[in-house]
Amino acid sequence: MPIAPCPTYGVHRMVMQGSIVVKDDDTNATISNLSNYYRCTCGERVISEGMAHYNVPLRDYVTEGGIQGTTIISGKTNAFVERDLIYYTSQTSIDGYRFYSA
Ligand SMILES: [Zn+2]
Repeated sequence: MPIAPCPTYGVHRMVMQGSIVVKDDDTNATISNLSNYYRCTCGERVISEGMAHYNVPLRDYVTEGGIQGTTIISGKTNAFVERDLIYYTSQTSIDGYRFYSA
């Protein structure tokens, strides 16, 4: 999937936002291995299994293109994602994205 370059930084600067609850957009089932929520100031979002900003491989992840929407339920951010657009990497970065704690 082609990634749009970051309009602010060129390479998206993904900053850890905390944990998030991820649900399958079609079935509403919780996808429990995806829980780390990163966001760039340009608005691009990534939710991953691993904590790349701690040098842990991303493993399963979904980018903006697979995130259908978010909502707050009981004070917790929930994201609805397209399961077909969850990818896997054993790296701590993705082309066009770098990950930071702040
Ligand atoms: Zn960006």
